[in-house]
Amino acid sequence: QAKYEGRNRFTHFTQSLQQEADRRLTLTNDLACALERGELELFYQPIVELGSGRLAKAEALLRWRHPRRGMISPGEFIPIAEESGLILDIGDWVLNEAADVALRWAMNYEQRIQLAVNISPLQFAERTRVLQWVDRLATLHLPPGSLALEFTEGMLIRERPELQQQLSALRSIGVEMSIDDFGTGFSSLSYLKRFCIETLKIDRSFIKDIAEDATDRSLTEAIILMAKKLGIKTVAEGVETAVQLRLLEQFGCDCVQGFLFARPTPLDEFEMRFIKEAGGMLRMDPMADL
Ligand code: C2E
Ligand code: MG
Ligand code: MG
Ligand code: MG
Repeated sequence: QAKYEGRNRFTHFTQSLQQEADRRLTLTNDLACALERGELELFYQPIVELGSGRLAKAEALLRWRHPRRGMISPGEFIPIAEESGLILDIGDWVLNEAADVALRWAMNYEQRIQLAVNISPLQFAERTRVLQWVDRLATLHLPPGSLALEFTEGMLIRERPELQQQLSALRSIGVEMSIDDFGTGFSSLSYLKRFCIETLKIDRSFIKDIAEDATDRSLTEAIILMAKKLGIKTVAEGVETAVQLRLLEQFGCDCVQGFLFARPTPLDEFEMRFIKEAGGMLRMDPMADL
């Protein structure tokens, strides 16, 4: 009996592995057509300057409206896009789309709003791809600082001589660099010296328990102080409560992003709610901090 159950459980185990593999394969095939079918869309989340309450930046966040499965989160499909190489075409699309939006904002609104785009390290693997971006972006004549690229610490850790060149080519046309999820990657900080980084985005895992956890509080304060000494701006990710906001203000954090102010929203709604109606001034979302 026991032996039978054991074998049965093993069969279940391999079946669920098989199901997971099938699911990923189907998703990969679906994702390959998602771009041309227009199923991908960018949502936009405000980034608010502390003190002034001004809408200083926005982050473009990718969404996939799957025809049968509904909305699939990037946490699920970005890894699939990276494994399959589809991230290269998807990433080009994201950057082009975001650059057009940044240009429209620069032309239509008095207020300077920087648009930040997430970049996968794989997109920097070929030199020519980045040079193509630089060529295309140069034709737009974006005001300097209109566009920022967010990448994780992991990308800067590998010593690649082309990376310096790629980043300076981007910088020469006014694109800024941000480190995303700061504090969760490799611990070497020497890259902060080597590369010109404008912004550190402090990962949500530090902010989450900042009110209760003294260690998280100290780490966050130390990151902000270090960044200040280096002349780097800080953005706190995942700010959900007024208490977190107050602490970050005390620590001298420059900007915050999180559900306390707004969730990522479609472009029309973003422009309507945060630029046109609110005049670029953000208030706490009364529904967020309950
Ligand atoms: P990320 O770049 O760190 O983006 C921030 C994530 O935190 C977003 O999740 C955002 O919706 C979420 N978030 C913002 N405020 C709060 C908050 O107050 N509380 C909580 N719990 N979450 C908050 P999202 O949109 O699901 O994106 C997840 C990740 O997927 C991103 O993390 C980024 O690494 C990746 N991603 C998104 N769009 C793209 C893209 O266009 N290209 C690439 N390569 N990666 C992308
Ligand atoms: Mg990001
Ligand atoms: Mg992040
Ligand atoms: Mg994060």
